[in-house]
Amino acid sequence: MTSPFQLPGMPGVEAGSIFCIGRNYVEHAKELNNPVPTSPIIFLKPRNSLVYEGGTIVLPRQSADVHHEVELVLLIGSKASNVSEADARGVISGIGVGIDLTARDLQQKAKDKGHPWTVAKGFDTFAPLGNLIPLGDDIDLASITMDLKVNGQTRQHGTTADMIFPCTHLIATLSSMFTLYPGDLIYTGTPEGVSAIRSGDRLEAQLVGLGSHFVIDVA
Ligand code: ZN
Repeated sequence: MTSPFQLPGMPGVEAGSIFCIGRNYVEHAKELNNPVPTSPIIFLKPRNSLVYEGGTIVLPRQSADVHHEVELVLLIGSKASNVSEADARGVISGIGVGIDLTARDLQQKAKDKGHPWTVAKGFDTFAPLGNLIPLGDDIDLASITMDLKVNGQTRQHGTTADMIFPCTHLIATLSSMFTLYPGDLIYTGTPEGVSAIRSGDRLEAQLVGLGSHFVIDVA
């Protein structure tokens, strides 16, 4: 049986830690009435949250308001500690499209109480991930367009050009605090347009023109 952590498109590579960045796009911070951060907001998802094309998203009974957040996902290819922004690109071996599912009601309660976001972000199937593709020299991390459709209708369409903290800055910041290992994933934040998903929905996410694309249904 294939490991649930075997990453799609990357034979022999298993997922390690899953780092995520909150509020990395101004318009998304605004749509949730959050202040724009002055340094990256970092949280983690547990590995049980991974799910791929061929699987299904399961809505947890503990939440009545699960939101999609389409995101560029970075795959770390080599052990990295205290990497400079100039060297950061060199530790990324692949990229793909992912969805940071969020139980918005539970996250709001956690925020109100100053509690961690782990539960709101970490349920089983809360980190859908498409196929990862190698980071070729021709790919500009600062101009990747991502797109999410729900039941055929576009809900999110954004570009990494609008990131507050670009990918290289995220790697430098994360690696100044945590040693990054091959297989670690970074969900880099979502552009505006987040909204609720419901049982029976079909989600279709892609990095436009780059060949990372997947379709997944909500049970
Ligand atoms: Zn997110």
